[in-house]
Amino acid sequence: MTARILLVDDTPANLRYLEARLEAEYFEVFTASSGLEAVTRCQAETFDLVLLDVMMPGLDGFETCRRLKADPATAHLPVIMVTALDQPSDRVAGLEAGADDFLTKPIDETALLARVRSLIRLKAVTDELRVSALSNTASSFFDPLTEAIRDRGLAGKVLIVDDRPNALQRIAEVLAPQHTVTTAVSAEDLMGAVEDDHDVVVLSLGLAQVDALRVCSQLRSQERTRHIPILLVAEAEDRPRILRGLEIGVNDYIVRPIDANEVRARVRTQVRRRRYMDLLRQTVHASMEMAIVDQLTGLHNRRYFDTHMPRLLEAATDRNRPLCLMILDIDHFKTVNDTYGHDVGDEVLQIFASRLRATVREVDLLCRLGGEEFIIAMPDLPMRVGLLVAERLRLAIASVPFMLGSNGQDLDITVSVGLAERGSGGGVAGLLKRADLALYRSKTLGRNQVSTEAA
Ligand code: GH3
Ligand code: MG
Ligand code: MG
Repeated sequence: MTARILLVDDTPANLRYLEARLEAEYFEVFTASSGLEAVTRCQAETFDLVLLDVMMPGLDGFETCRRLKADPATAHLPVIMVTALDQPSDRVAGLEAGADDFLTKPIDETALLARVRSLIRLKAVTDELRVSALSNTASSFFDPLTEAIRDRGLAGKVLIVDDRPNALQRIAEVLAPQHTVTTAVSAEDLMGAVEDDHDVVVLSLGLAQVDALRVCSQLRSQERTRHIPILLVAEAEDRPRILRGLEIGVNDYIVRPIDANEVRARVRTQVRRRRYMDLLRQTVHASMEMAIVDQLTGLHNRRYFDTHMPRLLEAATDRNRPLCLMILDIDHFKTVNDTYGHDVGDEVLQIFASRLRATVREVDLLCRLGGEEFIIAMPDLPMRVGLLVAERLRLAIASVPFMLGSNGQDLDITVSVGLAERGSGGGVAGLLKRADLALYRSKTLGRNQVSTEAA
């Protein structure tokens, strides 16, 4: 795993040292000697991680971090602060500024590398989602999600797991004012209590009955808990297992004796990340759906038809089974729009679509081709049966007036249908063309009827 890392430090010797260490691990390393330079470069270039010194003239590390996190273009960039300051209050100030971690000099290299790798892994996942989620927004420097997170607030649902009642109680008291807290006293207890919508699991690394890291990998391997951030609570001498934890997907850790503000800050960071990832996933899901579903009727759209129709036809050809294709076009629909308005037209389309949906089978491919034109592909139906279905559909439209919710009126609507059957060759285009010809015949013969076109 390689990545582009920006080192920010006003002391050249520090830069050189870290640069050499990180390059030895095959990272691409870049340097900046002031906070301002770092902010400018992050806006103009792409990095995967920023390692940020705190004490610098001009913009100090805290302010630099705040600026990076406040700008939607750089807010998702992981920041590790590195400093000689060693008070819990300094750590908290760093985390409050939005840093993803806060390491103390002299730097423990193994810990630093574990942290760098875990944050970069996480960023890779986030980036992939961001590309899909934001591909529709005009500019990559506009990120509506960051705003949305801000609006949703950061009160989370937190599950605390510890088999020592006092330790459990202490963390619960710290978090309860801001979050909804549930607790578990064992690993089994945890697996029962954890829910899909938990925002963070705060897990004691020192569980007596079971290896807490095994619990972590269990959480990571199950679909419903895979995305829940894990925050380990550990003893300082547990360092090797903390690092192992970061490798298997633990998001963050805190070392005992715990500082109340640090627990709060770290949990808040995880809740924020969880919210952001959830929103990304939802956006990706929604835009994927938007790409194949017609928003007005909820039917599949033309794009979906174009993707799936060749497969249906191929399957029918391979098995030498019949297949019918039907195009339906509402009669004089323009008049509906012109007489009653576009909104009524829309409503007619919705009712029309729901009547089609109620009539076709699960295996049929029903799509809105566009405008007032719909298409249905029916596998395994010979023309003879297809005609019966088409006639049933025509009647389902013509025999029951459309009740309009918007103006309480009844409207008589009719539809013309063109039907064609799979022949030898011609592909989807040939089949469509024949169904279209049949539809044209239905229109010219007076509408409200079904016509067929032989292969
Ligand atoms: P014909 O019987 O020959 O099919 O006549 P028609 O009026 O139904 O056909 P034409 O193609 O002339 O008109 C279709 C109209 O459908 C024109 C267009 O403005 C309207 N239309 C297309 N999409 C929508 C939509 O999403 N909502 C509404 N309300 N109208 C739409
Ligand atoms: Mg029409
Ligand atoms: Mg038309």
